[in-house]
Order: sequence, then structure tokens, then C-alpha cells
Amino acid sequence: MPEGHSVHRIARQFALHFVGRNVAASSPQGRFAPGARQIDGVEMTDAKAVGKQMFLEFNHDRWLRVHLGMYGAWDFAGDITADATTASANGRMGQTNQRGTLLEGRSGRAADNEDSLTSIGAPRVTRLRMAEQEKIGEGSDVFPPEPIGAVRVRLLTERTVADLRGPTTCEVLQPEEVQAIINKLGPDPLVDSPRRGEERFVAAVRSKSTPIGLLLMDQSVVSGIGNVYRAELLFRARLNPHTPGKLVPEETVRALWKDWTKLLKLGVKLGQMMTMDGLSKKKYEAALASRDDRHWVYHRTGEPCRICGTPIVMEIAAGRKLYYCPVDQA
Ligand SMILES: [Zn+2]
Repeated sequence: MPEGHSVHRIARQFALHFVGRNVAASSPQGRFAPGARQIDGVEMTDAKAVGKQMFLEFNHDRWLRVHLGMYGAWDFAGDITADATTASANGRMGQTNQRGTLLEGRSGRAADNEDSLTSIGAPRVTRLRMAEQEKIGEGSDVFPPEPIGAVRVRLLTERTVADLRGPTTCEVLQPEEVQAIINKLGPDPLVDSPRRGEERFVAAVRSKSTPIGLLLMDQSVVSGIGNVYRAELLFRARLNPHTPGKLVPEETVRALWKDWTKLLKLGVKLGQMMTMDGLSKKKYEAALASRDDRHWVYHRTGEPCRICGTPIVMEIAAGRKLYYCPVDQA
């Protein structure tokens, strides 16, 4: 399932290529036809993510809410940005975005950074799938390309198209309904101010006897953390996942928030859930290329702990696999 960093990257794609433009909305599959009519032909006025949910505003008075869930994905084509954090020559990127996070270039990339994929091999129309992973797809010669498969909603501008498939939630809401949903969500480090976010997180964790390993996945406690970040944050804090929230020392809870903030920002920048620090250049490149090389404990059942050598343990917690080191996180 896409974790918070993916959803923030998708929201940025919309902010860059849809906000400020009129959008033709349709439901090629038909299931969302009534909803699509409510936003068809209307200007998109905002795009934002809160945790794992994305909200696209139209005409300042209605919102499309999307939760990708386990199987949802967006397919973009046309004028799109391959890597929303890659600096470009035209200066559109590399600036502070609306949420105040610096969009900077990835080091090691050549000076010929292309911020828009359409400039590569034009006039071929490039496709980019954005879900848990990002994948550049087959190009096509027509724009917009025909919708393929069960497209719940298609959003189309003169230059960019986005097709949504398989979401858990896709609905049009009034502003007050959106606010009610956001009010129930835990803090998101890229939405809440650092201080307010931390205080909300500390208060929520310290008031509950639920194990911290479950609290981190509870979107009313903190937004955006999924299975990978949960396991990695707990290991980085050397924290036993079974510790009741109220028994986790306050300074440890505060450190968890700061670490989540750091990892989320890095994830948005890299498009990968990089959770290891202090890697050599060679190991860093390997980690970027392969999931098995970028995590401390996630997906490493039976492998030796990278610190103490003890086999990593996996157990099912709230229906999801939880990985930890029984020695470092005793
Ligand atoms: Zn260990």
C-alpha cells in the first residue's frame, strides 16, 4: 500500500500540472459517472495530501477525495514530471513548494535534468504510473491515450491526463466534509506545523495503552505511516513494538515524531522509502536500487540483524507483518 511519501508525490504531480487549469472529468468505467459530472469542466484549484489520502479541490468549493488503498494507482500521461524533486533548467522546480518543503535536485544526476518527460523524445507521450512504486510506461503517439481497463475517473487538461484505477475511496465532497475527515486524521509532518504536529502525536500516543507497533499504523494517531515505515521507525528507536503507548518515554515519542518527519521528507524527495543512515556511497546506490538493501528489518525475516546479528523476527500485528530485532528492540 502506498505510504505517505507516495501520496504527497502524487499530490505534487497534480499541483504542478492540473492546478490552475480547467479539467475534463469522466468515468470511462462508468462507476463514478455522477461524481465526475460534478467536477467536469471545472478548474482545479488545489491539490493536497494528508497522510494516505489525497484531496483535489475544484472551483474552490468542492473536493475529490481519493484513497488508493491496497490496489489503487494513478496513470499519468502527457505533460508530467518524472521526478517532482529533480531540479531543472527552466527554474520551475528547485523552488520551495506550497507546503514549504524544498524541492531540490537529486545529487549525482547529470546537468541535463529533464523536468518534463514530454521533452524526452517528443512527440511521444510518456506514461508514468504512480502508486506504491513509480514506473515509467510505454510511450504512445496519441494524446490523450485511450483509457485502458477499469478507469474509475479520468482527469484531463489540454496537456496532461490522469487515470485512476482501483481506489478504495473516490468521492466528491463539500469543503466541510473534507475538513471533518482531516480533523479525524492524526498529524502529518508535511501538513501540521512541526511543533503542533509533535504535540498532537505525543498526546495521542501517551494517552493509550495500545502497543506502539499498532499506534504507528493508526491513522488517527499519526498520518501516513504504513507497514514499512512502522517497522523501520521502531527499529531506529530500538523500541519494542509491544510497548504500550503510555509506557513509551515521552522523549522517545518526541524522537519518533522527529524521525518520521525526517524519513517522510526523504521519501518524498527520493520516491523511495530510504530508512538507513550513514551508508557509504556504494551502499547508498545499492540501497536506492534494491529494497532489500535499504531497510534495517522490513522484509528481513530470519536474516541477521545489521547491528547484532540476531535473526529478524516477523509476527502478524493487526493483520500486517511486523518485523523487529528481538535483541535490539527487547
Ligand atoms: Zn539486533
